[in-house]
Amino acid sequence: MPSGHKLAVIGDPISHSLSPVLQNFLIRRFALAFTYEALQVRAAELPAMMQRLREGGFRGINVTIPHKQTVLPFLDEVDATAASVGAVNTIMADNGKLTGYNTDTLGFQRNLEAATISVEGKTALVLGAGGGARAVVFAMLEAGARKIFLSNRKAARAQELIAAFAAYAGAGQLQNVPWSNRSSWMAATAPDIIVNATSLGMHPQIHESPLPGEVFVSNMVAVDLVYNPMQTAFLRAARAAGAIAVNGLGMLIHQGVAALEIWSKRKFDIREIYTNLENELRQALKSP
Ligand code: NDP
Repeated sequence: MPSGHKLAVIGDPISHSLSPVLQNFLIRRFALAFTYEALQVRAAELPAMMQRLREGGFRGINVTIPHKQTVLPFLDEVDATAASVGAVNTIMADNGKLTGYNTDTLGFQRNLEAATISVEGKTALVLGAGGGARAVVFAMLEAGARKIFLSNRKAARAQELIAAFAAYAGAGQLQNVPWSNRSSWMAATAPDIIVNATSLGMHPQIHESPLPGEVFVSNMVAVDLVYNPMQTAFLRAARAAGAIAVNGLGMLIHQGVAALEIWSKRKFDIREIYTNLENELRQALKSP
């Protein structure tokens, strides 16, 4: 296989990444001439990895923890979305030129679209202020959310995120809710959409949730970024109250498809294969 057809995901740790299962499923299904592997790249090895990429060793890569921000100085160009989010999860290598993208935002948007959920004119609460939350806030601003409230355990990080998007959001469109007030705020405000962008509920702490169950009501939409397990305590509580629950596996799938579209310069309709793909990923989550 020529190196121009090689793809990879880099991170540390990387052994539990679902991206190889996801991308290899898509590569097989759409008969693409790509290979995709997971590479453990420690922080000290990042410059050498980026040099390999620049010299044509790969067509492109996905970037995950802890490199989504530290990779920025190695790039020649960053697309507008990645620049606004301040993080890159996909890189394309084209004749020695490296361009960075953030497909987490598109993954979030497409996942909601697939569930026929519109953000336009809605009020949302986003829990968390890490890389995932940044992608969500950007996606929701783009999609025309009326107001986005952000709540994070470390207040300074929430303020940083709000400041980073200050030029992009309208006056009062993005506001902070103190972490200690989030439950009472929820009960008083009843936002349309609640997004868990914290890692609470992620395996092995599967009983944790960023909110108590009683704050959900039936006309809400609850979206979790956590995908392991697929049905988190947060989503179970939302569903029990009659709310619509959207799991994090969908965002993972859609960000991966968007990355493959960048590398292959093609568009993929995954509606027919979605259930098979989800099953394959569910199996991969179960295996040790
Ligand atoms: P970060 O490490 O950048 O951020 C973690 C977030 O979780 C922070 O807001 C942190 O708060 C919060 N948090 C962690 N532990 C606790 C706790 N005990 N109590 C309260 N808050 C806590 O991670 P990411 O933003 O990259 O990822 C967050 C989650 O989203 C992960 O589970 C990740 O797997 C998932 N994700 C899923 C994607 C998908 O495609 N489905 C895409 C991106 C992320 P604080 O700042 O106070 O530490």
